[in-house]
Amino acid sequence: MINLDNINKVLMCDECNSEFEIKYPEDNSKQNYLKCTSCDIQYKIVDGVIIFEKKSNKIKNNYQSKIYSYWWSDSHKNIVYDNEASKKILKSTINLETKDFQNKIVLDAGCGNGRFSDFIVNGSPKLYVLADLSEGIFQAYKKIINKNFDIVAAKGDLNDIPFKPEVFDIVYSWGGNTSHKKPKKNI
Ligand SMILES: [Zn+2]
Repeated sequence: MINLDNINKVLMCDECNSEFEIKYPEDNSKQNYLKCTSCDIQYKIVDGVIIFEKKSNKIKNNYQSKIYSYWWSDSHKNIVYDNEASKKILKSTINLETKDFQNKIVLDAGCGNGRFSDFIVNGSPKLYVLADLSEGIFQAYKKIINKNFDIVAAKGDLNDIPFKPEVFDIVYSWGGNTSHKKPKKNI
């Protein structure tokens, strides 16, 4: 379930530095959306995932998004990941174990379809933020949505998602395919 407190913990309007609110249109055919409490900035919410798009990047991102959306949803559709292998990759590439995520605010930057999310969730982070440009994020989110867990899911280029500065304890990216804004790393 999308939770405004969690959203405001890690995101803020990058036009005016204000908090967000969630709007629930009375007309059921319209989608919920995230809106800045002070200015007119708003973002769509689709299946619990906040969609961040900047018009200036739209063309470039659509192209990249299509490629990676294909990668995750079609080309990877039938792949069943070997959990032990995933665990080893995580350990050997970023040298983190499940327990390292405990009580941390974690950004999974370029989460894809959530290959590593189980391990991170099992480590009981305080708040787990999924971010990815591709449609894979909807799968990643669905995988862990029922785990009674504090999650924020943001679809977009990492440069377009208005994260608060220095809010994450761990920024994790494995094979992330988007360009990075150099978020603070405490790994
Ligand atoms: Zn604003």
